[in-house]
Amino acid sequence: MSAVKIGIAGVGGRMGRMLVSVIPATESAELVGGIDRDDDPVALLTNCDVVIDFTAPAATAALAVRAATAGTALVIGTTGLSEAELATLEEASRQIPIVIAANFSLGVNLLLGLVEQVARTLGPDFDIEVLEMHHRLKRDAPSGTALSLGHAAAAGRGQPLDSLWVKSRDGDTGPRTDGTIGFATLRGGDVIGEHSVIFAGPGERLELSHKASDRTIFARGAVRAALWVKGRVPGIYGMKDVLGL
Ligand code: NAD
Repeated sequence: MSAVKIGIAGVGGRMGRMLVSVIPATESAELVGGIDRDDDPVALLTNCDVVIDFTAPAATAALAVRAATAGTALVIGTTGLSEAELATLEEASRQIPIVIAANFSLGVNLLLGLVEQVARTLGPDFDIEVLEMHHRLKRDAPSGTALSLGHAAAAGRGQPLDSLWVKSRDGDTGPRTDGTIGFATLRGGDVIGEHSVIFAGPGERLELSHKASDRTIFARGAVRAALWVKGRVPGIYGMKDVLGL
């Protein structure tokens, strides 16, 4: 079987540099090249089967439009996309397959299933809070992973997250509103990514946590998604599909 030709968007960034070491070390993957800010993506898109994107929301949306024209599959790790940028990806996914995930680690993808199950089992007596910490340069808050964990908890309760979330608190908040899902965001140092989902009930508390200590977990997951997505029919896919969960 011929190797899957992979390109990197955001090659100069933290995740892009990880991919530069992970792709050549992966059997049946070939690193074709990379682009960063100010590079024209057309040549890369034309020469690749799949481009892996870890850039910034506006750059991701612009790349998706070009990828749809070129017919090149995408794996997207960029977080913090607006509704309009997500709509652009939806539009592009009519022509190309796209895997998008706020977190490519195996551990977090297993955690998503556990959180949904626990939220369903414990019911509304338990208050749900999502706590996350990342390095001082991270821009979007709460993190994409924290929001995915919130979506999983809300799904366990059979409701959409946007009817339940409390993204920040300040001043006299009054008592906690029943059934809401709260978020708390910490930023500092070089923390790669830590997430906890806390189920606080009467007389007991259950906490499910994941701590990333090496960015290669995200890079390996993204490369696995790239090998998987080649040749798929157009559409939006997630890591659940890639991992067969
Ligand atoms: P970073 O700032 O270190 O790297 C981003 C890179 O993208 C930079 O080199 C920047 O110059 C480049 N870039 C900006 N605009 C561009 C454009 N138009 N075309 C090409 N390149 C462009 O950031 P990072 O830590 O590598 O994270 C990037 C994104 O990935 C963030 O949204 C982050 O939250 C997300 N992330 C996701 C996962 C995951 O598993 N899904 C893991 C880590 C980070």
